[in-house]
Amino acid sequence: MTKLSGKTAIVTGASSGIGAAIAEQLASEGANVVLAARRKEKLEELVESINKEENGKAIAVETDVAKQSEVDTLAEKASETFGEVDIYVNNAGLMLMSTIQKGHVNEWDQMIDVNIKGVLYGVNSVLPKMVERSTGHLVNISSVAGHEVAKVNAVYSATKFAVRALSMGLEKELARTGVRVTNISPGAVATDLASHGTDEDLKKKASNSDRKKLEANDIARAVVYAVTQPDYVNVNEVTVRPV
Ligand code: NDP
Repeated sequence: MTKLSGKTAIVTGASSGIGAAIAEQLASEGANVVLAARRKEKLEELVESINKEENGKAIAVETDVAKQSEVDTLAEKASETFGEVDIYVNNAGLMLMSTIQKGHVNEWDQMIDVNIKGVLYGVNSVLPKMVERSTGHLVNISSVAGHEVAKVNAVYSATKFAVRALSMGLEKELARTGVRVTNISPGAVATDLASHGTDEDLKKKASNSDRKKLEANDIARAVVYAVTQPDYVNVNEVTVRPV
């Protein structure tokens, strides 16, 4: 029997990078995982590979986390398929690097919608039931950019500070309810995250770093660590940086 047997976990942003690794590792601990993101075909590939294994099962639910109705549907499909949601990992995120002076208002809107509102919609979709059942675990993926601000990334950083603020507030609000909250702050991880912006110079700089980056699995292990502790242990903040 694996540690998360019979548990239901939702992972947003599971179509690539850190989210895909989290989904795989939760499933290998026995959790049934519901994979959410916009790229359905990527989710389906991961569903197929998870379902080939002996451990937890997976389904894909195409979801734009910036749309509240889609996030609510995600939570409904998860509980209909596998039973009440025990773990919700708010991992979906966008980093569109640029200085504020460039005035990329549309990119700010996207980051705020996905990185902040997406997290709130996710929490809102499962929290009432978790409180009613006196059990559940919210895991929010912030960043070291939620602790420190770089000059080319202030808006992204602001969204990740917001994720930490939400995690800290939730932790206080939910003390004694039985619902646990974990905020995870990764340093640089080798994923596609930095490739989505429009500033080619900054993208090049991000990819040219000579420092060995973390791997997505390094962050997934931190998630598994937090959600497999005994019920009375609430791991609130984990920061993982490359050496
Ligand atoms: P990726 O770009 O590989 O993954 C981002 C994921 O978010 C994708 O699965 C993408 O799926 C999903 N996503 C983006 N927009 C939406 C949306 N509107 N609705 C649903 N899903 C969405 O990057 P990472 O794996 O690195 O990023 C995962 C998280 O880790 C992010 O929150 C990021 O901020 C955080 N992080 C990453 C670090 C790094 O160095 N890589 C460092 C610190 C934190 P799709 O496009 O299919 O919708």
